[in-house]
Parts: sequence; C-alpha cells; structure tokens
Amino acid sequence: MALIVQKYGGTSVGSPERIKNLARRVARFKALGHQIVVVVSAMSGETNRLIGLAREIMPEPDPRELDVMVSTGEQVTIGLTAMALMDLGIKAKSYTGSQVKIVTDNAHTKARILRIDDKSIQKDLKAGYVVVVAGFQGVDEKGNITTLGRGGSDTTGVALAAALKADECQIYTDVDGVYTTDPRVVPEARRLKSITFEEMLELASQGSKVLQIRSVEFAGKYKVKLRVLSSFEEDGEGTLITFEENEDMEQPIISGIAFNRDEAKITVLGVPDRPGIAYQILGPIADANVDVDMIIQNVSADGTTDFTFTVHKNEMGKALAILKDKVQAHIGAREISGDDKIAKVSVVGVGMRSHVGIASQMFRTLAEEGINIQMISTSEIKIAVVIDEKYMELAVRVLHKAFELEEA
Ligand code: ADP
Ligand code: ASP
Ligand code: MG
Repeated sequence: MALIVQKYGGTSVGSPERIKNLARRVARFKALGHQIVVVVSAMSGETNRLIGLAREIMPEPDPRELDVMVSTGEQVTIGLTAMALMDLGIKAKSYTGSQVKIVTDNAHTKARILRIDDKSIQKDLKAGYVVVVAGFQGVDEKGNITTLGRGGSDTTGVALAAALKADECQIYTDVDGVYTTDPRVVPEARRLKSITFEEMLELASQGSKVLQIRSVEFAGKYKVKLRVLSSFEEDGEGTLITFEENEDMEQPIISGIAFNRDEAKITVLGVPDRPGIAYQILGPIADANVDVDMIIQNVSADGTTDFTFTVHKNEMGKALAILKDKVQAHIGAREISGDDKIAKVSVVGVGMRSHVGIASQMFRTLAEEGINIQMISTSEIKIAVVIDEKYMELAVRVLHKAFELEEA
C-alpha cells in the first residue's frame, strides 16, 4: 500500500465526462489498496475567465479581492470531483486550501506556502476516504485567501506530497510527459523517459509551463518522487524527475529547450558609472515586490553606462513608474524605456558541464536565421537569450534541430 498524491490539471477536469474519467482512475488505484489524495485545478479556461471578469470591473484588480474570486475555480472542481468519486461508491471528501490549512505568506497572487497542517487529511485517509484538495490556493496567517501564481496547483500537489511524506506525486496533464520542448511549438519534440531534477528546475524557471517552478523546488527540497503523466492514457510511464544523472544512458548534451513570452525589458540609459548604481535602480524595484530576472550593465565609454533588466510583462508598467518617479532624477539617468515585445529562449542540459562550444553553436544557429540576440545569460547548465518576440518559434525550432533533439 502506498500513499499517492495525484494532481489533475485544467484540461483533465475540463468537463463532467473528464472528471468522471479521473474518478475511474482514482478508483483503480484505490482498488489496489493505495491511499489517494487528489489535487485539482480549475476547469480549463476558468481561471482566465475569472481574471477577465475582474479586469472588466477594475483594470488593475485589487490583489486580495482577485484571490478571493479567482480561487473559486478550484472550489467548483473539488466538489465535482468528490461527487464523481461518491457516484462510484468511493468515500470522498473535499477541502479548500484554507480548510486544510495550507498556510502561505501574504503575497497575494503569488503567495508561497509556509506550512501545511496535514492532521485532518491523515485522519480521513486512515478512515478510508479519498481526499480531494483544491490546488492553487492557500490562506495567510490572518485568514485571507491567497493564490500561488499561475500553474500553482502543481505546487499544491508536490507540497502536499512532501507534507504527507507520500510515496509518489503524479502530475496528470494533457501531454504524456516532459518533452524536449513544448510539443505544441515543435511537433517533432520527443518525450523524455526521465530528466534530472536540476534540468527540470532550469526548464521550469525558463518558462516550460509543464510544471510550475515552485513545485520542482519543493520536489528537490523534500525529495518527492515526481512523475508527469497523461490523464488521457491508461498506463503510460510518463517522465520521472530523477535526482541522479543516469550513468548508463547516453546522456545528450542538451535535454530541452524552454521559452518564455512573459518578460519585458527595461533599459535605463545614460547612468553614471559609479558604485551603488545597481542598488539604487533595483532596490526600489525589489521593495515593490517586483521580481527581476536577467540583468546586464554595459561598460562605460564616457563615464556613463546603460543598465538593462527584465521583469514580468504584467509588472513592466509598475517598474517603469517606480523608475521614473523615484530613481531617474535621483541618479541622473538620461532616459528610461520599456519593451514588452521580447521573448527568452533557453537551452538546458547537464551535459554542458563537460562539453564546450554549446554557446557558440547556439549563437551560430540563431545568426544563420538572422535572429538578433539582445541579452544573454548563462548558468552551468543553461544558456538563455532574449530576442525579438516575433522570432521566438523559429528560434526554438532551429535550435531543436541543431541540437538533434527530434524523434530518433
Ligand atoms: P495543466 O493544466 O495540466 O497544468 P499546463 O497547460 O499547465 O497543463 O501544462 C501542460 C502543457 O505544457 C502542455 O500542453 C504543453 O503545451 C506545455 N509544455 C511546455 N513545455 C513543455 C515540455 N517541455 N514538455 C511537455 N509539455 C510542455
Ligand atoms: N487554475 C490555476 C491556473 O490556471 C492553477 C493551475 O491550473 O495550476 O493557473
Ligand atoms: Mg499547469
């Protein structure tokens, strides 16, 4: 007997028929004697619909109130899922995030899980219930409803698996595993049997939305056995996230390509080149809780330099306002500009550690297509470039081919 957490994404709960399907799968696992916790997302499209409604009322919705209404999507699916299980004669009970007590910080719309009270769930599991938990939502110390950021149900699933010391966390979605890149962009992409935790972390952080990054962080921290599977197949093996590099397998140099259209680039032009400038620019940005991703500062030719960084597109307006109001005059910058027509494309692979020339191969491939690189950042196992948004899909396709990632 094992304790298994199964997380089902939006498409997998997208209609009553699909929820019934999910219930039949859970019933099969239950019949084998396993204890099951089910985590569900909102029905596909529902979270977008709710955010759209909020924006019709208030173009920049109040974050606390947005969380109150956007979290209702998952409240609908837990009720429906518990009913579908009961209909099959299975004891089931649903919980919202605040009923479980998934306690988070108070960063509305992107809250972090601080702790999970697993007492009620454990009790119900012992009593033979399938426990159904709403993904994506939690509650702060003061009782306010919070949400965990888009795709946050993955994180609910893995965090619950960690708290319950589950034997496995299974992420059921609309693809049958983690691919070399998004199969919607490159149909020749190949499913990976396994991928190292480190690589998955990079891919998720660079924009592969198959797993939310925080779910991968949780899996790493608590050594959760994590598998991505299709909810439309009976018995695929999916992709296992492993903690060791597989020595026997012929390890490819590059494991995957990620891309991200969600960032915007902000440039501060004509900044005096002196100590403390980076702090004076980015300090107020961080104080406003805006995450910064890539940063570059040019060398100065005439005592002044340009400073460029990227933030989430949704936060470009906020970041620009802060710079114009609080920073520009103070540091004497000539101009501040924003560009949200950019995309980031990243190649990821642990094989990079032992191979040289990956960056030059990447840059040559892009140059051959006439794609200009605006920013570059690297880590031990990743090279990321910022390019014009309109070349993103082309860049992903040519890189996928250049690094021979297609189906063998
Ligand atoms: P869910 O609603 O089940 O959470 P998501 O839409 O969040 O599903 O994530 C699954 C989607 O992630 C896939 O349909 C696919 O288009 C996309 N995706 C992006 N990168 C990858 C990748 N490397 N491997 C598999 N899927 C990917
Ligand atoms: N429903 C939320 C979203 O669409 C959370 C999730 O699906 O994981 O982002
Ligand atoms: Mg998702």
